[in-house]
Amino acid sequence: MPELVFPLDSTKPFTEQVLVGHNRWHPEIPAQVHVKPGDEFRVHCREWFDGAIRNDDSADDIRDAPLDAVHRLSGPIAVEGAKPGDLLVVDILDLGPIPQEDSGPLAGQGWGYTGIFPTKNGGGFLTEQFPDAYKAVWDFSGQRATSRHVPHVSFTGITHPGLMGTAPSAELLGRWNTREAALIATDPERVPPLALPPLRKDAILGSLAEAEYDRVASEAARTAPPRENGGNQDIKNLTRGTRVFYPVFVDGANLSVGDLHFSQGDGEITFCGAIEMGGFIDLRVDLIKDGMSTYGVGENAIFMPGNTDPQYSEFLAFSGTSVTLEGEQRYLDSHLAYQRACLHAIDYLTAFGYSPEQAYLLLGAAPIEGRLSGVVDIPNACATVYLPTAMFEFDVRPGPGGPTRIDPGQGAPHSAF
Ligand code: ZN
Repeated sequence: MPELVFPLDSTKPFTEQVLVGHNRWHPEIPAQVHVKPGDEFRVHCREWFDGAIRNDDSADDIRDAPLDAVHRLSGPIAVEGAKPGDLLVVDILDLGPIPQEDSGPLAGQGWGYTGIFPTKNGGGFLTEQFPDAYKAVWDFSGQRATSRHVPHVSFTGITHPGLMGTAPSAELLGRWNTREAALIATDPERVPPLALPPLRKDAILGSLAEAEYDRVASEAARTAPPRENGGNQDIKNLTRGTRVFYPVFVDGANLSVGDLHFSQGDGEITFCGAIEMGGFIDLRVDLIKDGMSTYGVGENAIFMPGNTDPQYSEFLAFSGTSVTLEGEQRYLDSHLAYQRACLHAIDYLTAFGYSPEQAYLLLGAAPIEGRLSGVVDIPNACATVYLPTAMFEFDVRPGPGGPTRIDPGQGAPHSAF
């Protein structure tokens, strides 16, 4: 086992650990770990709500989830010799659920969860159709996931970190804050909001000196969006064997990682659409000096995905175009087209007996493939979503006998405001 450089004790909150991580991006958050190019090491990661979501049959915890306090990130990890302009090479050697008790209170100890976030607390990709909170708890058996809340499916997880990235420079952080504030100003009262400005409340800034806390917390960027430093990209294909090349913006690069997912469909559509878990990740780091200019990498990390994806070979695919549910034609709107493709898949699965919410949760959590199939054929963009047929215990394909009706079980736990 590689050396454990960032340990987390499952019995203690994130802020009471030997090394305290962070939940904001800022160049002045001090490195907690120091490694060298070529080093291999293990990092523990807490699930993104630090234990607020329980393995039970109520969605109250999703409805009330403390969004201001996400994401709990392990790090920063400084890499000796890294300078602004370099590329930080990060190999994902291995990752998985918490390697401790078989069943315990924290997500990752044999189980994980997917939430549909209510419009008033985060929302999601289809929040107009799904305004309330729902939850599915998933049980892990090796690489497979099943859920009492979405019965008759079983799939191989595509395990990956939802969030990994390097610290921004002060100049880059300033650009983020300026451009995101300008967007918020176009509709400041919108629910859910257009973007999340810096927020002092609930900011966790590692070992930063108390005297600096107020200033840094009021400048530090929230971790929800992906940005030039990588961040919360939620790319399901960052599996074992992946190599990522991150731009370096500060001395030491200051890499951080968290938000591990047992599995996720493309788009992470229910907002917390992945199967969220705490766990471990083993990394190897290296440097390409001056790699940012050499390879033109400044606008987001580049990566070579791992080759340990689930091996599904047959899919049932659904398409959508850029026409609203009310029948209004939009111009090449790929976001809308992917919404329509997902709604099409949800409608289809309800014909077998699932509730729309069970189908939505499944699309968020299972290793479904989402594609922008056509983006040039005016006026309709075409997006598609591919469901592996083998994850269903029944024949999900259309046929002359009509859909097999399944028992949807107890359904997904629900809570409204
Ligand atoms: Zn996540």
